[in-house]
Amino acid sequence: MFSDTQHRGAIMICPVCGSEKDKISITNNIVEKHWFGIPFRYQEKLNTCSWCGSEGDFTGVNDIKITDAIDAVRTKYGQGYIEGIMENHNLSPVSIDRLLGLDIGTTSKMQNNDVKQIEFLFFRLLKEYPQVLKVLERWKLEP
Ligand SMILES: [Zn+2]
Repeated sequence: MFSDTQHRGAIMICPVCGSEKDKISITNNIVEKHWFGIPFRYQEKLNTCSWCGSEGDFTGVNDIKITDAIDAVRTKYGQGYIEGIMENHNLSPVSIDRLLGLDIGTTSKMQNNDVKQIEFLFFRLLKEYPQVLKVLERWKLEP
């Protein structure tokens, strides 16, 4: 049975020797990683046990920090790709919806909300290979 504080992850315990909080120090490091070739940074917490010398992320907080950082990068760049495609090809959000056969308002929603992985990849591919837009237009016109 977890106590309330353990449940919230507030109690920090060395996974090697079981020492508690007063023996554990926290260091913050700025770490740079790449996600689909896009660099991003996050602040990593590194725990060190003064009793046994073990080092690591004793609470699992870094996994959450990485996930949050990737979510932010995906949305920022995804929205940037959509806006770039609109500018470079003189397309409105509604004209993108029509071109892709999406419900009207879908592209506009993506511009203002979290961008999902598949949306990010699709618009990145459209940005890198704009000739696909011509293929989509041709398909749209075919009976
Ligand atoms: Zn320890």
